[in-house]
Amino acid sequence: MDWNINMKLNIKDKFNKVLPADPILENTRRQVSKACFSYVLPKETAKPEVLHVSPEMLENIGLSDADAKSDHFLKVFTGNAVLEKTTPYAMCYGGHQFGNWAGQLGDGRAINLCEVEHNNKSWQLQLKGAGETPYSRTADGLAVLRSSIREYLCSEAMFHLGVPTTRALSLALSGDKVLRDVMYDGNSAYEKGAIVCRTAESFLRFGNYQIFAAKQDNETLNALVDYTIKHHFSHLGEPSKDTYIQFFKDVSNRTLDMIIHWQRVGFVHGVMNTDNMSILGLTIDYGPYGWLEGYEYGWTPNTTDSQHKRYRYGNQPNIGLWNLLQLANAIYPLVEDAEPLETILNQYKTDFETRLLNMMRSKLGLKVEAENDQRLVLELEDILHSTETDMTIFFRNLGDFEKDEASKGLGIIQDAFYKPENVVGNIEKRWNDWFDKYAIRLKQESGSDEERKTEMSTINPKYVLRNYMAQLAIDDADKGDYKLIDEFFKMLKNPYDEQPEYEKWFAKRPDWARNKVGCSMLSCSS
Ligand code: AMP
Ligand code: MG
Repeated sequence: MDWNINMKLNIKDKFNKVLPADPILENTRRQVSKACFSYVLPKETAKPEVLHVSPEMLENIGLSDADAKSDHFLKVFTGNAVLEKTTPYAMCYGGHQFGNWAGQLGDGRAINLCEVEHNNKSWQLQLKGAGETPYSRTADGLAVLRSSIREYLCSEAMFHLGVPTTRALSLALSGDKVLRDVMYDGNSAYEKGAIVCRTAESFLRFGNYQIFAAKQDNETLNALVDYTIKHHFSHLGEPSKDTYIQFFKDVSNRTLDMIIHWQRVGFVHGVMNTDNMSILGLTIDYGPYGWLEGYEYGWTPNTTDSQHKRYRYGNQPNIGLWNLLQLANAIYPLVEDAEPLETILNQYKTDFETRLLNMMRSKLGLKVEAENDQRLVLELEDILHSTETDMTIFFRNLGDFEKDEASKGLGIIQDAFYKPENVVGNIEKRWNDWFDKYAIRLKQESGSDEERKTEMSTINPKYVLRNYMAQLAIDDADKGDYKLIDEFFKMLKNPYDEQPEYEKWFAKRPDWARNKVGCSMLSCSS
């Protein structure tokens, strides 16, 4: 008998069993009402080829390496075979894009295959780039290799950094060509098509609730919120107005938690539209994201947002709040009382100040809460902005600081400067002053320099998927060489470990990457 992964997967579909389905079965683009999803089958592809599989995710869903090498795995995770007793579907959602209500969006190129239970965890398996759906609007339902590599590598890397995120099972070529105009300047070209199988407990977004509120369809809204609580927030108990308020509070906390992690590691999502905000507080929809090189509040990788920089690094916590306000509006019809929702939003504002400060304390190796810490952090951020300083290298190397050797501080972080020749005169003096204050502050801590370094190394990663690194992996993959994908995948499993064999990736962005498309400039084209 042919190898069949159906026998290994413990398929337990819920979403498409419990919630209202779109009654229309044709794969035609349309406005969908009173339904949470539409049935749709993935598109067959010309010449599918699996390029990489995440061993951890494989294990998480109960599959083996041998399963991953089977023809059935290849077919299922590239959309060329449907698992028995499953009915794939695309989810219906709306969203605010760049601050404006955009109406129905939905899974335009994501197709959910099924839900799998394994080791007491539930995983939704979803193909991204598997063909058009009723929600594809004017687009083709496909994804290109470059954006698929970026999502595949980064989502797994984020998981290992300890950041809440959706994950990825596999990266495959479809064998089809996909037409894209990368910089939206009239220069369209064919690129290799690809499909990522991504996974999460749920892919529900703020926009899934917003769409029903916008249509004043309280019945479906209520069904979806009750479903979400029952299956993903079961600790809250039976649905009631109080439970809905608690639910919103949990979502608010999780969202903030996720964003604080982004700030800690220097991740800029790039498109924090409400359709890209997971209800579980997971980083979702890896598009034109980027990693801070120079520490800069105003930085965004997304060229589509280059004018207003709405989604810049320093604005992410505020946008989280703005998005939560939209979610509060969406679930208001179930609560019918604005006050408790407002209280939660106000709490987010206070929490985000304290949590950001605590996060920065941890990056500096401070455990005690001292009165002037806020000032110490603000002064540091000021100098970091005064000359281009690599965030990852700065914080990692700061671990070597010795509190009795403040004058050596600048030498320790020297490698983090993009233009060391500028660190002279007043800037040099400000750095030295700051190191003096830091040294004094460290004397209020009880641990040794060595202990502090060890702790800081669990908070300040050594390796992140720098923008130019992803681009190098993409350039090689375009030529059919996938070694770098595997190298980064392995290295980013242990981002806090020294891993001397990968030392060359603990380096500043090279100069050629400073203004290169794909490295510092990314569009939404994917
Ligand atoms: P994003 O900017 O990736 O969050 O996408 C916004 C909306 O556009 C979502 O509804 C996506 O499913 C949809 N979308 C993005 N790219 C495509 C595509 N190539 N084909 C169909 N729908 C797409
Ligand atoms: Mg999206």
